[in-house]
Amino acid sequence: MRVAVFSTKNYDRAFLEVANKGYGHELVFFEPRITPETVKLAQGFPAICVFVNDLLHAAIIETLAGYGVRLIALRSAGFNNVDLAAAQEHGVTVVRVPAYSPHSVAEHTVALLLDVNRKIHRAYARVREGNFSLEGLLGFEVRERTVGIIGTGKIGAAVAEIMLGFGCNVIAYDIRPNPVCLEMGVQYMALPKLFAGADIISLHSPLTPETYHLINAEAIAQMKTGVTLINTSRGALVDTLAVIDGLKSGKIGHLALDVYEEEADLFFEDLSDRVLQDDVFARLLTFPNVIITGHQAFFTREALWTISDITLANIAEFERTGASVNEVTLEKMVA
Ligand code: NAD
Repeated sequence: MRVAVFSTKNYDRAFLEVANKGYGHELVFFEPRITPETVKLAQGFPAICVFVNDLLHAAIIETLAGYGVRLIALRSAGFNNVDLAAAQEHGVTVVRVPAYSPHSVAEHTVALLLDVNRKIHRAYARVREGNFSLEGLLGFEVRERTVGIIGTGKIGAAVAEIMLGFGCNVIAYDIRPNPVCLEMGVQYMALPKLFAGADIISLHSPLTPETYHLINAEAIAQMKTGVTLINTSRGALVDTLAVIDGLKSGKIGHLALDVYEEEADLFFEDLSDRVLQDDVFARLLTFPNVIITGHQAFFTREALWTISDITLANIAEFERTGASVNEVTLEKMVA
């Protein structure tokens, strides 16, 4: 199938080209993400392939449908960036990669926890400058701490498994408790109880209307003083202004983020020569107890290979049958 591939970086292209030897699609790579200005690049293509910060709202989907686009292939598990109702209305099929490597994201989550706790990034910079002082580097033992996991699907369960291995007590909240987690000894409870009991809180639920700003001022008020908060899921799970207040008051002891609500204008680009326009993000960067990575939790060889292979298989299946097992529909999402 002829596919316009948006938001393409060198690494996407490298993995997709190798995987495509088994499929033979005609892939045309475009570096920009889809915006009202760049959507015209999709003219003449029956399929487009996009990533997490390609914002496919109703107007863009209408334009795409007008160009004859029949398939949107997401190179991601999350699909909060696509207006599914608009896609359905215009007869455009949306497919995703439901699981590529939950362990990639889970391992990065734990890397962030250990880094923000033991201040590895600060120690690295100090040692390179010949500063061997330990002032300000004091951490805590993770063993025997209570870790609260919100959303125990594939990634949350992988985080639970690792944290149990660290000797932690793992508690969780999910609208659908995962039998695998119950089997591991994870204790499910209501959110207020999780907020009150957890030393470390890690977010792994998808972004939906119900989870939007799940971590807000009211939630933070219920947490332990000095709590460590980690978000590797989607930025808008967190009300960033409320979190900044929590950091200023000391209620939040450590914050580790791989995602940010307004990341679409920042992440995946080298902006080091530009003046940062996002004052909220700039404030986050001033805290010594905050670490931020730019949506890289998924970024392993294993994940990139699987993303490429499943995306191309989804496209091939759609071309052959007009449908895909990995189709995302409104009905499937509420089922
Ligand atoms: P999953 O579908 O396997 O699990 C999601 C879990 O969240 C499910 O158990 C579901 O029941 C639960 N959930 C849904 N609504 C909820 C609610 N209102 N409250 C609590 N729990 C709720 O998904 P996954 O593969 O584990 O991925 C989780 C999220 O991680 C994705 O939605 C995506 O946003 C994010 N993600 C981030 C990266 C990254 O690189 N940072 C990579 C992949 C995925």
